[in-house]
Amino acid sequence: MKTDHGERTLTLLGTKGGPALRNPGVSFLPTSNLLSLGHRKIIIDCGIGVTQALARAGHSSSVITDIFITHLHSDHMLELGGLIHTAWTSGLQHQLAVNGPAGTARVWSHFLEMMEVDIAVRVLDEGRPHLRDLVSVHEYDQGIVTKNSDFTVSALRTIHPPIKDCFALNFLSDGQKICFSGDTAFMPSLAGFAENARILVHEAMLESGVDYVTAKTGNTDERLYRHLIASHSFAHEAGRIAHDAGVKLLVLNHLIPAERNIAQDDDWIAEVRQHFSGNVMVGADGIKIPF
Ligand SMILES: [Zn+2]
Ligand SMILES: [Zn+2]
Repeated sequence: MKTDHGERTLTLLGTKGGPALRNPGVSFLPTSNLLSLGHRKIIIDCGIGVTQALARAGHSSSVITDIFITHLHSDHMLELGGLIHTAWTSGLQHQLAVNGPAGTARVWSHFLEMMEVDIAVRVLDEGRPHLRDLVSVHEYDQGIVTKNSDFTVSALRTIHPPIKDCFALNFLSDGQKICFSGDTAFMPSLAGFAENARILVHEAMLESGVDYVTAKTGNTDERLYRHLIASHSFAHEAGRIAHDAGVKLLVLNHLIPAERNIAQDDDWIAEVRQHFSGNVMVGADGIKIPF
């Protein structure tokens, strides 16, 4: 049996698009992922539920070594503080590196402020190191985000108005590339960025999802509809990127609609097949993909 030390897997923790929690089906939780590269346990995005999903996937949050946030929409970072705090109370001993766009340091410092009573009590009463000292936040921009002996991460700004700092992320390790699209409208240049990826995790929506989400959310004007169209990709567009990039596996996530009674796996795959004949998987919470 392979030891955990050498494990190279991607676990989809949350695969639903958007912040609302609706039906507890197979894609229930907003965006979060775990990339295991041996002893490096990397979280990509921290939608609500990430901490529980990680535990269900068999990992204590105290093993996390790195966190990457693609952008500051709540469905990608609402549980950043909760995850780190739980890692701390679960016995975090090492430095945790948090990488996010401009504004991430403020999110973290405000979380520490919000939790100051609890943190001070636990430091005094339980003899824990101060949480502040265990976490370093690095705000990144397009280009190389970080480079170490285990992996290199690079970022590409995506099209996700009105948010400017939203990034696709490439993880390069041992000659393999794992690419996350982040949230983005169809962006042809993403194909170059994702070229030859072992796995491309790409956001996706269907026409039926746009109708469903706008009806369900009950907004009184067309702003949500216009946001979805201007800032997100349809599944066939994700297929086009996967084809142009020549990826080995396309994983659809950030699903709109997430509910399988509105759209089933076959509906998603049929859209992708307009452009991409390779391996494709419709994301579901908890799926573990070895590579
Ligand atoms: Zn999102
Ligand atoms: Zn977003």
